[in-house]
Amino acid sequence: MKKTSIWLEEKDTLPINTLNKDLNVDILIIGAGITGMSLAYQLRCEKLNICVVDANLVGQGVTSRTTGKLTYLQGIIYSKLYKNKSLKISKLYLESQQEAIKEIKNIINKEKINCDFENTSSYLYAGTQKKIKELKKEKIILNKLGIKTNELIGNNFYAFYVSDTAVFHPLKYIYALKKICLKKKINIYEKTKITDIKLIKNLYKCQANNNIIYAKKVIIACHYSFFLIPMLLPIKTNNEQSYIMAYKNKINEHKSFISVDNQTKSYRFHNNYKIVLSNSHIISNHLNRKENYLELINDIGKYYPDYIWSNDDLITIDSLPYIGKIKNNLFIATGYNTWGMTNGTIASKILKDLILNKPNKYEELFAISRTINLKSIKNSFVDIYDNTKSFIENKLFPNKSWYQNVTFERKNNLPLATVYDEIGKHTIINRCPHMKCSLIYNQFEKIWECPCHASKFDIDGKCLKGPSKKDISYKE
Ligand SMILES: Cc1cc2nc3c(=O)[nH]c(=O)nc-3n(C[C@H](O)[C@H](O)[C@H](O)COP(=O)(O)OP(=O)(O)OC[C@H]3O[C@@H](n4cnc5c(N)ncnc54)[C@H](O)[C@@H]3O)c2cc1C
Repeated sequence: MKKTSIWLEEKDTLPINTLNKDLNVDILIIGAGITGMSLAYQLRCEKLNICVVDANLVGQGVTSRTTGKLTYLQGIIYSKLYKNKSLKISKLYLESQQEAIKEIKNIINKEKINCDFENTSSYLYAGTQKKIKELKKEKIILNKLGIKTNELIGNNFYAFYVSDTAVFHPLKYIYALKKICLKKKINIYEKTKITDIKLIKNLYKCQANNNIIYAKKVIIACHYSFFLIPMLLPIKTNNEQSYIMAYKNKINEHKSFISVDNQTKSYRFHNNYKIVLSNSHIISNHLNRKENYLELINDIGKYYPDYIWSNDDLITIDSLPYIGKIKNNLFIATGYNTWGMTNGTIASKILKDLILNKPNKYEELFAISRTINLKSIKNSFVDIYDNTKSFIENKLFPNKSWYQNVTFERKNNLPLATVYDEIGKHTIINRCPHMKCSLIYNQFEKIWECPCHASKFDIDGKCLKGPSKKDISYKE
């Protein structure tokens, strides 16, 4: 069993450059996931000096741990948008997702990208009366929006499906975009972390490792922003974590499935593997991550995972992403509600238009300044309450009953945590540099996780994933 995503078997064979000089650019894209690389691709033919930087390696963030479905059937999103907003908004969101799938197909065909793209049917299904009722409503809304659906009715389940959706290998796609962008003289700097952004006169001064990048326009495409952004984004979003495994399966069914039952399950096929996602929870809950992994393995029962991993994505209060302008020449795209393959792609088209001062029909739909109505806020209260409760509990009681070989102490006025393993002793500062939350130890992956905003650190405190900009290593 490999504790890594199946997609990470695919290696990037292209050159890896790290920034070692100051730069002056027209456009700086921070983050080389599906959002950043798709945007670089969209801008490749403009006469602009473009630079993409990534704290890690191209595509190795959240994008490398997705299930890689390209679908507009996304749970009961359309009835939710209809209920909380309007039929017009439901329709616009549907169009954005269909356009994104079409765009990915076009890019793959035009650039002859070999990324295991496959047309598949997408199924939504439910097994309880309450959820079946909700699913039937979703079908009615989709039909109203002009989507033809096919039903399957069983004794204890109900399902419907559409056939114009797809799956692909996300990393093969991203590496192909990298190759095209490099050919077009777009500079891509990996292992280059941005830690500060300041607007000085008309230029953004960005601290990148030990160098400075001066940029006319900056795009934050780094999943969760590493600086506090206006318009209360941190409290209008929440991180959801899920567990995924891939195991050998003789048949490739050319179908993908998602349940809308209380515990979401999602399946797809890739070559000789079946990929299963389950056990989703907001990150401040279900803190015993090892147990969550074991539950997934037990749930699947007779199959033993060849690959197993987890992933987290940003969920927004009103189920729509935040894509657009923060201020002046600063832009952001985030909050994809676990549908970033399509939303990251549509974000690249929207941001291209905004950067070039052109109108875009989705600008208002995804604007970060949009008002959130009371109905949406009500639905999110539980998450806000859970987050706050977990923050306080973790501060007061860092030592969990299920921890083995983990101890806590205060030294030099710092809260320290030590893990003992076969190599020896590993001490870290038990405080996330981002917003000072206490961390939890994930015994399955041997990493420290922030249960507030999903920063991750290795056993010795090296930051693996933001929004934290700093390590939490402790030297005696
Ligand atoms: C369990 C799960 C399953 C999913 N399955 C699907 C699916 O089937 N279909 C679908 O459409 N979506 C799916 N998603 C959603 C999708 O994976 C994400 O929304 C999408 O990958 C986010 O892409 P991104 O480019 O915004 O972020 P990322 O891929 O995380 O890219 C951001 C990059 O920014 C870099 N970065 C961060 N901070 C800095 C910094 N300070 N300086 C420089 N670089 C920085 C990171 O290293 C990273 O490479 C799933 C999500 C989850 C959690």
